[in-house]
Amino acid sequence: MSVIVQKFGGTSVANAEKLRQAALRAISAKRQGHQVVVVVSARGHKTDELIELAGEITSRPRPREMDMLLSTGEQESVALMAMAVHELGEEAISLTGAQIGVLTDTTHTKARIVSISTERMKKLLDAGNIVIAAGFQGVDSDFNITTLGRGGSDTTATALAAAMNAELCEIYTDVEGVFTTDPRVVPTARKIERISYDEMLEMASLGAGVMHSRSIEFAKKYRVHLRVRPSFSDGPGTLIAPEPDETLSIVTGVAFVRNEALVSLIGLPDQPGVMSHLFSALSFARIPVDMVVQNVAREGFANVSFTVAEDDLQGALAVAGSAVEKLGAQQVTHSTGLSKVSVVGHGMLTHTGVAARMFQVLAEKRINIRVVTTSEIKISVLIERAHCNDAVNAVHEGFELHKETKSAPVIGCASNGLAHRNEHGNHGLAEDIASQLSGMESIVVSDIYADSDQSRITISNLPDDPGIAESVFTAVAEGGVLVDMIVQNAARDGKATISFTVPAADVDRSMLLLREVLETHSAAILSHDRHIGKLSVVGIGLRSHTDVGARVFRALADTKINVQMINTSEIKLSIVIAVSECETALRILRSEFGLPE
Ligand code: ADP
Ligand code: ASP
Ligand code: MG
Repeated sequence: MSVIVQKFGGTSVANAEKLRQAALRAISAKRQGHQVVVVVSARGHKTDELIELAGEITSRPRPREMDMLLSTGEQESVALMAMAVHELGEEAISLTGAQIGVLTDTTHTKARIVSISTERMKKLLDAGNIVIAAGFQGVDSDFNITTLGRGGSDTTATALAAAMNAELCEIYTDVEGVFTTDPRVVPTARKIERISYDEMLEMASLGAGVMHSRSIEFAKKYRVHLRVRPSFSDGPGTLIAPEPDETLSIVTGVAFVRNEALVSLIGLPDQPGVMSHLFSALSFARIPVDMVVQNVAREGFANVSFTVAEDDLQGALAVAGSAVEKLGAQQVTHSTGLSKVSVVGHGMLTHTGVAARMFQVLAEKRINIRVVTTSEIKISVLIERAHCNDAVNAVHEGFELHKETKSAPVIGCASNGLAHRNEHGNHGLAEDIASQLSGMESIVVSDIYADSDQSRITISNLPDDPGIAESVFTAVAEGGVLVDMIVQNAARDGKATISFTVPAADVDRSMLLLREVLETHSAAILSHDRHIGKLSVVGIGLRSHTDVGARVFRALADTKINVQMINTSEIKLSIVIAVSECETALRILRSEFGLPE
């Protein structure tokens, strides 16, 4: 018999009536002949209330006790939901994370699932029960209760769907589905019919709170059929599917993280091992690095900047402080009050000018861009927090996401870059890779490849003003050049540096176009490296699993390979190195991650 997993979020089980409505959905699926597993979150704002309560007692609650406390929210919900089902005349049984057999690692408040035992659930389902499972929680090998991180019930749901080989996993929530951006911030946001795993992974990890990003990792790894649906109506919601919707516009959505902090390490020695040390230390502290920017070294010194969630700032500063001592850097600086706004979409693989368009929209609003990073299907900018809502609205409108029509409001003509970029496409992992996983949430690096057909262009000494990035990328886009990695660092002394890569065949044309634009900025210094090596590490959950970056940079440092540029995302880690070191780097990295030569 087919299994269906239905997950109900906090607002969808907030009171008795909503619990009854949710119970009715589960019963209806059962009566249609399915075996039904229901995953529930804590009711309403219960988790926030519990956090607040703990805060009234101590400003530093121990993570173990926090997990013990927060897990009670879900425990309450499962019991009430089981009662609601009983009352409506069906059999149901509630289970905690431990009772389901959700085994996690020991990282309290951010635990990862190691395995799920299905035996008990299967027996209960076969006996005719609806199984009501507590989301968000598990148990470690010492029987300590753990939680999976805020929003983690989505992850419980997709993990159970994967473990039970469910036909479908439905995520019931308080919106019609996944929207082009948060409808609370942009009232004209539209519901998306269908979005690919990769786009949803990027959207979720870049701040679209509608889904926990780790839940999409499971969905992609185990090919879970996932649908985000409204609990308040019968709307079909949004299908999260392996392939993108080709009929969509170039940009699929806009995501944002309101509370970001920027940390800069100034005056680092420009030598192999710097990134390795930093990434290992941050990984050890379990702090996911968000945007990472290393500028091209001058006079033997490099600056590295990275952003972290503002909550992680103290931890990141502690790590940066000891890194400075160890590496002999000059100083650490940081700033807060920042937000990150990102556009996501598969169309970027084939269309020039997406970055230019985004920068143009922000320039029109006089919003200054502090940092830029990109990856294959996303562009992220760091801006002042006061401008966050304005920026999200402007970018959403700039890409015409509020419209039904599928026009392409970007600059320049469509290029034929698809073959080049997608040659090693990352359309999910083969089943055999998924079945090799030792821990269900272990990271999977599915491929590593090198591209020595790219050039790097760097413009330094640029004024730190709105509109600079726009003029640079508009010029290049109008020339039909497909820009790949873009890195703009945090300005120092009012001067910014932008580096990006272009196909080697386009570098001369790009330089000509840029010289023309830069005539008005006589102090700007334009340089290029005709042949660079670009390494791409492809997989799932590469950013949130902090140890992937650490392993990559350690392997490169051990081989004395210097890193020039980095871009991180959930599905790809891109690194620029000297072209002469490309082959060696590829070999050692493939062997590090157990990939065949
Ligand atoms: P639940 O309690 O059901 O898990 P959440 O509050 O976690 O619900 O997620 C739903 C909320 O996510 C919506 O109310 C909406 O404000 C927010 N959200 C953020 N980005 C998006 C988006 N792109 N599409 C839809 N909702 C979004
Ligand atoms: N109750 C938890 C939270 O509020 C988990 C969840 O809702 O998914 O974060
Ligand atoms: Mg949620």
